[in-house]
Order: sequence, then structure tokens, then C-alpha cells
Amino acid sequence: MDRSWSEMNREMQALLAKKATFADGIGKLLALRESLFEQVTQIVQTFPAEAFAQMPFAGAEGYHSKTLAYSIWHIFRIEDIVAHEMIAEDRQVLFAQGFQGAVGAPLITTGNELSGEAIAAFSRQLNIPALYRYAQAVKESTDQMLRQLSPADLKRRFDGGMADKLRRTGCVSEAESAAWLIGYWCGKDVLGLIRMPFSRHWIMHVEAMQRIKNRLCKLARKGVNPVAYCGLSCNHCFLGAWCGSCRTVYNTCSFATVSPDGQCPNAACCQAKGIVGCWGCDRLESCEKGFYTPSNDGAAAARAQALYIRAHGEKAFLQLQSRLHAKYDFEKAQEILGQDWCEALRRLEES
Ligand code: SF4
Ligand code: SF4
Repeated sequence: MDRSWSEMNREMQALLAKKATFADGIGKLLALRESLFEQVTQIVQTFPAEAFAQMPFAGAEGYHSKTLAYSIWHIFRIEDIVAHEMIAEDRQVLFAQGFQGAVGAPLITTGNELSGEAIAAFSRQLNIPALYRYAQAVKESTDQMLRQLSPADLKRRFDGGMADKLRRTGCVSEAESAAWLIGYWCGKDVLGLIRMPFSRHWIMHVEAMQRIKNRLCKLARKGVNPVAYCGLSCNHCFLGAWCGSCRTVYNTCSFATVSPDGQCPNAACCQAKGIVGCWGCDRLESCEKGFYTPSNDGAAAARAQALYIRAHGEKAFLQLQSRLHAKYDFEKAQEILGQDWCEALRRLEES
């Protein structure tokens, strides 16, 4: 489990256990959920539509064997059902806010009954922007409910009537792989439900989503030129696990993610000019686009690297990067190349 999430989760549980620290515990829980939801947001905002139905770990044991779309649906359907049918006893967000049609889901269950290709087929039917809006609405609605809880609410338990009610909703499949959920939820008090599904369940599935997206990026980069348009090396980039290269649709490099159209300005400009990288451009020395933006602390290093490629070629540049990483311990090239591109180029030439 991610160390910071695991630590927040542990602290949150300890705080909730005591009346005096209950409010801090709820605050910690909300912060943990916010941090986890940021990951969902980043994935939805930066990954191409096709990514959401891919199963790069198909057949594996564990949550990472699912798809990104299924993971989002599953996390928030379970939360919607538990928060609204069991705790608040009002209407689920899926129905109250009319999300079912918008999301395009052919079912209203948690999805536990699906496996293998059925998960991929289900995922292909979902409208991802609408699914994300549904997830957001469920999160906000649950956060609101959590803020209103008192310490006494945590001990509230559920009887057989609640189990019957949950069955009648049809939101949990009768299949063996899903039906157990009702007994599991009804065996807990509200504090137990805060752990599962409002916090730990999120952590497990968001971590699985990270594994899926990292694998998709790795697969996307296979066979693709590992030198980025701006002059960085994807093979040596500290974002390599997260980014699928600016030469693929899995481009989640920092300048791409902050650009309105999701494409790095250097990549867009090179493509428009029909050149393989900025080293093929006669404006490289003075360019201020994308990575070469003066306020970017990596501008000088990227420019120097592109100039090195212009002089020595991509292969020699990649070999140089390997030598530098073997010799020095650094994440970003600017850590060893500094902020002056002439000086940075000189260091590259001497290495
Ligand atoms: S951030 Fe840039 S250099 Fe790093 S992997 Fe992505 S495209 Fe390549
Ligand atoms: S103008 Fe700048 S971003 Fe465009 S190709 Fe030239 S160096 Fe690259």
C-alpha cells in the first residue's frame, strides 16, 4: 500500500476511535479521500478513451486485473449504495441525479459478478466523462454525509431488514461472487463501513488503477523513439512509469497535462513542422515554448540536450544519458546540468 495513504488511513482510524479526536479523524478521512480522488481525476483527464477498457493484467489475481473504467464504476457504485441505502437511507446518486443514462451502464450493480472479457465489454459501453461526473457526485455526497456524522453514529448497526432492503434494490447481483457483499456490509457498524468501503476500498482500487495505467504507458512506449520532442530521454525520465511518451496517445508529461488540448507545445510544434524533435529546428536557441519556457527550471537542461542531439544524434544522446545516470544520482537533468544552457551543453560535451 502507498506509504502516505497507508499512514493517513492508520492515523484516521486512531483519531476516529476517540470521541475527543473524532472531528480530526473525519478531517483526515476527507483529506485521504481527496488525495485518492486526485489520482482518479489525473487519470481521467490525461488518458485516452481507449485506455479505460484495456486489461493489461487480464487473468491476474487482484484488483489490477480489471479495467480503469470498471474500477471507477465499482468504487463509486459500492459507495453510493452503502452511503445512501444504508447510512443516509435516501436515494442513491445514480438515480437521484439521473446518471444511469448518461454513463451508459447496462447494469446498476456493483459489477462484482463480472469477470474477464465481460469486464472489458462492460467498460467499452461506459461514457467516461459522465462516469467521472458520477464519481465526483458520489464523493461529494458522501463527504457531506461524513461531515454530519457524530461519534455516536459510528456505533450504529444494521439488522436483517437492511439486508432485505438491499436485496430488493437489485443493486447487488445474486451471483455468488457479488451476493456476499450484503452480509459483509450488514455485519459492520458505521465505523466499519467508513473503513470499507469509504477509505481502504478506495486505496486498494486506486492503487490497482495506478498499476494498470503504468503498465499501459509501458506498453505504449514499446517500439517508440525514446527521445522526447523537447530533447529529454523517456528511457531515463523519472516520469517514465507515469507517462507513455509524447509520441503516443498516452502522453502525460507535465507540459502536456497543463496544456489545454492535452498536448505538449513542443510536440505539437514539431509535428506541425514535420520534424522529429526540436533539435531539427533553427529556432531552438531562442525558443520559449513548452519545456523551454523561461520559468521552467528544466528549460536550460532540455535545450542543451536538444542541442547535443543536433550535434551528435539521438543514439549518442541516449548513450550519454545512460553514462550520466550510472555516474550521478539524479532525477531531473537540471540537477546536474544547471540553469545556463551554454554551460549545460559544455557539461554534456565533456561527459
Ligand atoms: S515526461 Fe517527457 S521525457 Fe518523460 S516519459 Fe513523458 S514524454 Fe518522455
Ligand atoms: S519553435 Fe520551439 S517548439 Fe517549435 S520546433 Fe522549434 S524549438 Fe521546438
